[in-house]
Amino acid sequence: MNPSPLQTLGVTGGIGSGKSTVCRLLEALGARVFYADEVAKRLMAEDPALRQAIREAFGPESYGPDGRLNRAYLAKRVFHDPEALRQLNALVHPRVLAAFEQAREQATRDQVPLLVLEAALLFESGADRLVDHVLVVEAPEAERIRRVTERDGISPEQVRARMQHQLSPEELRRRADFVIENTGSLETLRQQVENLYRQLTAA
Ligand code: ATP
Repeated sequence: MNPSPLQTLGVTGGIGSGKSTVCRLLEALGARVFYADEVAKRLMAEDPALRQAIREAFGPESYGPDGRLNRAYLAKRVFHDPEALRQLNALVHPRVLAAFEQAREQATRDQVPLLVLEAALLFESGADRLVDHVLVVEAPEAERIRRVTERDGISPEQVRARMQHQLSPEELRRRADFVIENTGSLETLRQQVENLYRQLTAA
């Protein structure tokens, strides 16, 4: 019997909505997860062509004397400068998408049933076009702020500042194929995720 073809699912949502938690639950069920933000960080640190392009665009201070990415400097350069942020994303995103294509080939070879692409900026990076379906994880803003201040030890104002870089909850919902409302317990979330997993991987 032929194995079922690989399904791909993009997972996104506002900061603190529960994206990573959903992805860990999907992993436990047998999915493979490609964490786009982590891959982006790794490529910025290690990929020679990307390092060169970032140096040319943002200056030699982008990397420290020891060769390590100067995250604080880059964050400062792009945080209040939308054009600089756009420029950095234009360098990083295409390389992350290429890495996802490699992950897809590997997942197909490994006969993984579901490959998940987790990205905070799934739509903004164009990554939504690489996946079969998109899941948006939702939670009320006050709940998201509470979870992230607790998780990261930062202030509500800092969470709100990060939220400004993301699409609105209404826009995310409009673009979603599936929505999970993460307003209950972790056990409720596990059940919601399991239902979706079964639906996506049913032969
Ligand atoms: P970010 O955008 O910052 O990456 P995220 O969307 O990936 O955040 P998570 O890290 O999954 O969000 O969740 C934020 C915090 O809320 C975590 O500490 C997580 O354990 C907790 N959390 C998520 N869902 C629930 C829930 N249903 N009940 C209780 N805590 C939860």
